[in-house]
This record gives sequence, C-alpha cells and structure tokens, in this order.
Amino acid sequence: MTHVNLFSDTQTRPTAAMRRAMAEAEVGDEQRFEDPTTNRLQERVAELLGHEAALFLPSGTMCNAIGFRLHVRPGGDEVILDRTSHPVGAEAGGPAAISGATLHQLTGDGGVFTAAQVEAALRPAEPGAARYTPRSRLVSVEQTTNLGGGRVWGLGDVEAVLDVARAAGLRTHLDGARLMNAVVASGVPASDYARGFDTAWVDFSKGLGAPIGAALAGSAELIDEAWRYKQMWGGAMRQSGVVAAAALHGLDHHVARLAEDHANATRLAEGLAELPGIAIDPAAVETNIVLFEVPEEAPAFCRALAADGVTMGAFGARRVRAVTHLEVDGAGIERALAAAGRVLREGAGSV
Ligand SMILES: *Cc1c(COP(=O)(O)O)cnc(C)c1O
Repeated sequence: MTHVNLFSDTQTRPTAAMRRAMAEAEVGDEQRFEDPTTNRLQERVAELLGHEAALFLPSGTMCNAIGFRLHVRPGGDEVILDRTSHPVGAEAGGPAAISGATLHQLTGDGGVFTAAQVEAALRPAEPGAARYTPRSRLVSVEQTTNLGGGRVWGLGDVEAVLDVARAAGLRTHLDGARLMNAVVASGVPASDYARGFDTAWVDFSKGLGAPIGAALAGSAELIDEAWRYKQMWGGAMRQSGVVAAAALHGLDHHVARLAEDHANATRLAEGLAELPGIAIDPAAVETNIVLFEVPEEAPAFCRALAADGVTMGAFGARRVRAVTHLEVDGAGIERALAAAGRVLREGAGSV
C-alpha cells in the first residue's frame, strides 16, 4: 500500500508536469538578469504580492534572513513576532547571528497576535528610558501560522497590526510561507494581505509543490539591497530558471487545488476528534495543518504510525502535527485515520 506522508507539505515531489516545465525552461545567467524564466517569476511575484519588485531565493529561510537584515540595524534592534514563528525556533538562531536582533516573542492565539499586544510590546521612546531598552524596529507576521496550526490572519487583524507598527515607525515583514493557503481559505487576494508590509514573501516548496525556492518582494530600493545579501550569503544562482519554472508551474496549477488540502485536513481533524484519547478542536483547523494531542508520548505514537505506513511529526511531548498536500488524497486520509485508531487501541508500545 502506498505510504501516506503527512509529515509536511515540504515533502511533495515535483509532479511529472512540473518536471516537464523544468526540463523545457528557458534559462540564462540569473545574476546578470539574463534568465528569462527567473525574471518572469520575479515579475509575477511582485505583482501577486502588490510590490514593486521581487527576488527569487533558494529558500523561505533566506527570505526571512534577508528581510530581517534589511530592516534591523545589527546591535540589538528588536523584532516583535509570535513565539511559535519560524525565525524563533527553526532558523538556527539566524536573527541573532545574522542580524544581531533581539526577539520580542508574543503569545498569540494559534500564532495570531493582536495590535494591542504589539502596542504593549513597544519600547519607550523617551530618551531617559530608551537608553536601557533594545530599540523596537520590526514586526513580523506569519501567514498562515505554521506551529500555530495553520491559522489564517484576517485582513482586519493584519491591518490593525500594520497601523500600530507604522504609527510607531517600525518596519514590517510578512512570512508568507503558506500565504496562498490563506488566500484560498479566506478569498482575500494575496496583494491585499501583502501590500502593506515593507517586505513579504511566498514559498514555492510547501503546498505549491516545487522542489525548492521562495521569492521576497518589496520596494525596488529594498530588493536592490536584498540582491547584495543574496550575493554576500552565496544565494545568487546561475541558470535558476530550471527551478523558477517549477515555481511558476506551482503558481499556475497548484494554488486553487489547495482547497482540497484544506478539505482533507478538516476531514482528518473530524475523524481524529472521534478517536478516544485524542484532544483536538476541529474548528481550529482552517487550512492544511492539523495539530492534536495524543494520550501517550508523541514520538512513540508517530513511530507506531510510521510502522503502519503513515507519517506524522511529533512537535512536543504529546503534540502531533499532520500536514496535507498534493500527494495525499481522501483515501490517504481514511488510511491515516484507521492507522491512528489502531495505534490508540493497541498502544504505541506494542508496535
Ligand atoms: C517552511 C517555513 C519557512 C522556511 O521556508 P524554507 O523554504 O523551508 O526555508 C519559513 N517560515 C515558515 C512559516 C515556514 O513554514
């Protein structure tokens, strides 16, 4: 039986049609702006996100790293962001190592924090007090929230946070690793979500199914500066059109279908809620990420599931994450539910 891989939407492999698009891509030297496919992708993303320019990068992590570096003055500037967000726990300390940033971590609701929380986090501006504190410099929003459970920021929530940030003279950055999931779930256009940020990016290697790549958008001036860091950190490529073609294919063919991933995640959550011992709120599942608690050790639960041909990830002592994507269909979800039911009945230790 085929394996049901719910570990992450990063595990999608390029489809046959995507591989054909890659094979047929027109290419040139990206660094000299001579790769037509990469140029086309960058124009497409700039327009999609409502910004002047965009830059193709090897990874979303590099989009966050460059975005932060563009906004933060090394030497302790403070970034306000959710404690579950990617730069906090999954970028090898990059914000501190690369940008010299301190992180002011908010506890949002499923990764979604409020304008009032940002306001309360702002450091004092009066010279007497400001001498002691780090300087508030940047607010970073993650859309959708990954370890927050795939929650969608409402447009009003985003705008309220941007208003507070702007009023305080802060820069703003949107980690849109799964922005297109939010777009499909909410019906809000990507540009409406992204336009108000100084920098915003979208990932191609998550639900869009490309093997690698992400693109960072902003003003022409910021993207010029971003090119410097791309060069400095060794992210500048050559015939990158081969991978840019995969990204374009994902944008053309794998966005609307994210709705299927969301429906599959909801079905998975509803099925899990019926299993004895599982704690989950199916109503909190808004996109393709399902977080739940198991009654035993999460790693043992996941090992037992894997022995049954179903992969999920342990994210905490009892917490398990399942992520739907284009390689998992409705039958796969039913198989995952049956396997989870078996493991719970028989105990993870018995496998
Ligand atoms: C995956 C992810 C990233 C990093 O993207 P890569 O392309 O894997 O480097 C950043 N932020 C969030 C929210 C993510 O889920």
